[in-house]
Amino acid sequence: QAKRQGRNTFQWYTEGLNKRVSGRVRLRNALQHAIDQQQFELHYQPQIQDTSGRILGFEALIRWHHPERGYILPAEFIGLAEDTGQIIPMSEWVLRTACRDNVRLNALGFEEYVMAVNVSPMQFQRANFVTGIVDTLKQTGLAAPLLELELTENILMESTTKAIEILQMLRRLGISIALDDFGTGFSSLSYLKYLPIDKIKIDRSFIREVISDHRDAAIVQGIISMANQLQLKVLAEGVETQAHYAYLSKKMCDIYQGYYFARPMPIDELITFLHENEAANQLQQQDQNDSA
Ligand code: C2E
Ligand code: MG
Ligand code: MG
Ligand code: MG
Repeated sequence: QAKRQGRNTFQWYTEGLNKRVSGRVRLRNALQHAIDQQQFELHYQPQIQDTSGRILGFEALIRWHHPERGYILPAEFIGLAEDTGQIIPMSEWVLRTACRDNVRLNALGFEEYVMAVNVSPMQFQRANFVTGIVDTLKQTGLAAPLLELELTENILMESTTKAIEILQMLRRLGISIALDDFGTGFSSLSYLKYLPIDKIKIDRSFIREVISDHRDAAIVQGIISMANQLQLKVLAEGVETQAHYAYLSKKMCDIYQGYYFARPMPIDELITFLHENEAANQLQQQDQNDSA
């Protein structure tokens, strides 16, 4: 049964409650081991600007590189890590690694890309959240404007005045803020009036059938025009096809992220990808100069 669901699925999620409980204990122990043994990796997925086709930056996505099971996706372990508090050391590692990798890109001449990092609810609620980020920027040497933090609506709902203060501090430092999975939370829209944010990421569940389902189309169009009028950047997640891209582009979406452009990839692959992209841009530039 479990085998049929593929190698990334833990069997304890598919079995009875008893097994599930002991499964959680086992998963927690396995996670601790993974933290101690540094079995995590970050994969980076490019974000593409609509008008220029330029890469603006990347989102850092955690993977658990399990010695026997291969790559395990965050859906399998982030929730439990949040429950057990293991998300805290994990998040510190993520932030440090993402910043360090962006500094590595800077050293290779890729100096303008913004690194987006997902923030977990528990991480955001910690008293030392902002100082932790400032310290990590200092230690890694990454410039604050090259860091973006992705937060979900649910995180910001908890205590809105406090959240606003924290976001203001971060933005004063030069860090940008994206609202992740927009449209899937249970919050009211009124908070968009007050929250100091830079970007809205439309959840990919609305993009998947945006062309065939007029309800998704209405929601996506609504979000885009609202974002435009609030002077927020708007990014579509889960852009998988040329048709998605053409449709969204017509609707004035600013930024895209999805398999159509690139999958999340390890840092070495990303570096190759950026070099190829640079070479392609130079060729295009030459063509334009020649024909001018
Ligand atoms: P998210 O922040 O909304 O990340 C986008 C997810 O969409 C990623 O899944 C990405 O691989 C996937 N994706 C990108 N393009 C496409 C596409 O064209 N089609 C489809 N079907 N999917 C696409 P992933 O990597 O499995 O991550 C899932 C979630 O886990 C993330 O959703 C985020 O909430 C969480 N997560 C990932 N990394 C971290 C992390 O370092 N820290 C925390 N706290 N959460 C993380
Ligand atoms: Mg995200
Ligand atoms: Mg998202
Ligand atoms: Mg999502």
